Amino acid sequence: MDLNIVKGVGEKALEYLNKLNIYTINDLLTYYPYRYNIIKIIPISEALEDQNVTIRAIVDTEPRVSYIKKNLNRMIFRVNSEGYLINVSIFNRAFYKNNLKLGREIVLLGKYDSKKNVFTASDIKFEIIRDFKIEPVYHLVKGVTSKGLSKLINECFSMKVDLEDYIPYYLQNKYHFIDKLKSSYIIHFPKEINLLKQAKLREIYEEFFVFMFKMNYLKYKYDLNNQGLSREVKKDDVDKFIETLPFKLTDDQSLAVNDIYNDLIDSKRMNRLILGDVGSGKTCVATIAMYINYLSGYQSALMAPTEILARQHFSSIRETFKNTNIKIELLVGSMKKSEKDKICKQLLNGEIDILIGTHALISDNVEFENLGLVITDEQHRFGVNQRSNLQNKGIMSDVLYLSATPIPRTYALTLYGDMDTSIIKTKPSGRKEIITKVYKEKDLKDVLFKMLEEIKLGHQIYVVAPLIEDEEGESNLNDIVKLKEKFNVAFNNKVRVEILHGKMKNKDKDLVMEEYKTGKVKVLISTTVIEVGVDVKNSTMMVIFNAERFGLATLHQLRGRVGRNSLQSYCYLISNMDIPRLKVMEESNDGFYISEKDFELRGEGDLFGTRQSGDMVFKLADIRRDFKVLVQCKKDASKFIEDNIVDNFRVYPQFKSIIKEIDFID
Ligand code: ADP
Ligand code: MG
Repeated sequence: MDLNIVKGVGEKALEYLNKLNIYTINDLLTYYPYRYNIIKIIPISEALEDQNVTIRAIVDTEPRVSYIKKNLNRMIFRVNSEGYLINVSIFNRAFYKNNLKLGREIVLLGKYDSKKNVFTASDIKFEIIRDFKIEPVYHLVKGVTSKGLSKLINECFSMKVDLEDYIPYYLQNKYHFIDKLKSSYIIHFPKEINLLKQAKLREIYEEFFVFMFKMNYLKYKYDLNNQGLSREVKKDDVDKFIETLPFKLTDDQSLAVNDIYNDLIDSKRMNRLILGDVGSGKTCVATIAMYINYLSGYQSALMAPTEILARQHFSSIRETFKNTNIKIELLVGSMKKSEKDKICKQLLNGEIDILIGTHALISDNVEFENLGLVITDEQHRFGVNQRSNLQNKGIMSDVLYLSATPIPRTYALTLYGDMDTSIIKTKPSGRKEIITKVYKEKDLKDVLFKMLEEIKLGHQIYVVAPLIEDEEGESNLNDIVKLKEKFNVAFNNKVRVEILHGKMKNKDKDLVMEEYKTGKVKVLISTTVIEVGVDVKNSTMMVIFNAERFGLATLHQLRGRVGRNSLQSYCYLISNMDIPRLKVMEESNDGFYISEKDFELRGEGDLFGTRQSGDMVFKLADIRRDFKVLVQCKKDASKFIEDNIVDNFRVYPQFKSIIKEIDFID
């Protein structure tokens, strides 16, 4: 249902709400508070010194306002709180003056100094609060207030709205869940903690149930049609190719290659996930998989999450295959239509053996002659639907997923339980630990000095900052445009420094990347666009500004851009804050260890990068905290599918639409 039918939502409000990704009434009703303020009213006689308290009072004198400075005013008035006459002082709330009528009952938040008999208020509430109130706090943007949001949400609830419920009724009964509309209401307007907990649990269960439903459905579809291609490839031929590589495979790489080889020659379709830390050599394993597929006479497709990464895969894989007859092409969204058409034609004729690209591979009208293997890089960034789509391109194609997200094993098995997994834990030998250190901004000179030393050695440096251009201009060190100027001054314009970010034209991005790869550019300053996969071996230093703004997963991924050969590499994290996350980075280079720590520490972190992915964005659920619920949902969803697939979810039309999305082939 559209939002503009709600009373009080005009053009302007709509615009603000859209900024919060709220487009429909459903969006609004499930835009949940991220935390709550608990307001508990106590008698003034129980107020402790220096403690924030909330009291009830009646206005006893007219307030007087004094203007101290341009942006500072102070209001003083007297109240009667249960017989005690108390002086109230409050700063910068002169706008409340007209509300403070003599005899009005108000609620005061603040601290009480009993010796001076002064209550220094931080805020005043004009509503009648019994003894206890749980106040929702929402993530907001300019133009939307918590109060305004609450009012709109309340308006919706009074309109007889309907919310789709994704918990089958029998499970609802089994767990005694509150009904959907009611629990959603409670989450916005909780009256007591216990009910709030129950309501949240219901929502968490529902989010996981839908997620697990999709995962299990994919698995079901796979099992239904797991007839694979028949291939005849001798292991010897594969080994011969492996011997042409410039290095020896690590043990874990060899095991993964074996898994893949066995999957491919088996009559069942492959459905495998390779989990491995950054730089552990997954791409190399994927390349061997494509070689096996090529030997058996089929085409391969490799899909990467960004154009930069797709291009890089393209050039490095072409390099690996340079002594073979394998024909490789690149297909990305920014290419000219004529180029794309040409590639599509060759693809259909079977003139191309390997196609590398972004999701243009699935969204465009791409047809293969005989697609035998589909590889998806950075699996967690793609949604279930996209995954399913790509699988559908080649009816019997084998599927391989690569993920640089080192999820602890138990979590991985639950989250990706629909796939077989190979884990690459060991890194190629000869790699040194990346020396990691946190610096305060005031010690930047030391970092600049180290940067110069590294440049003198002929090495290259990545610099990452959170913003492209900081309009607020609060700090000099968090945007890449200012950093470039700063470095140019510091290095006397003698070192070539360039910037790279997502808003640049593809042509310009490519140019900068090319010049960095060839070593012309010494320092590359970027936003997190280089997070994924970029591989320039001569880079030995990563400097991250405002490091506290990034989650552990992102920091680890970024650091993985260096230390890609036997040279000693460094990672400097610039931050004025002492936060445990950054300590973890100093402590370890092991992605699996870091992801465990991430789980332990995480308050607002980015759960090893899964946040960005289409499927794993949960509104209330938290994979670690609510892991038990997740495991239960996995069981429940699997049974639910088993029981209802025969009559095509006749009783559950809401699941029919989910399935339709998954089954959809474009
Ligand atoms: P990932 O895809 O896991 O990040 P890559 O496959 O890109 O890792 O490998 C990272 C770098 O290590 C690449 O430059 C690759 O050529 C190199 N590499 C891969 N496997 C080995 C190995 N067994 N020994 C030495 N270097 C390797
Ligand atoms: Mg097979």
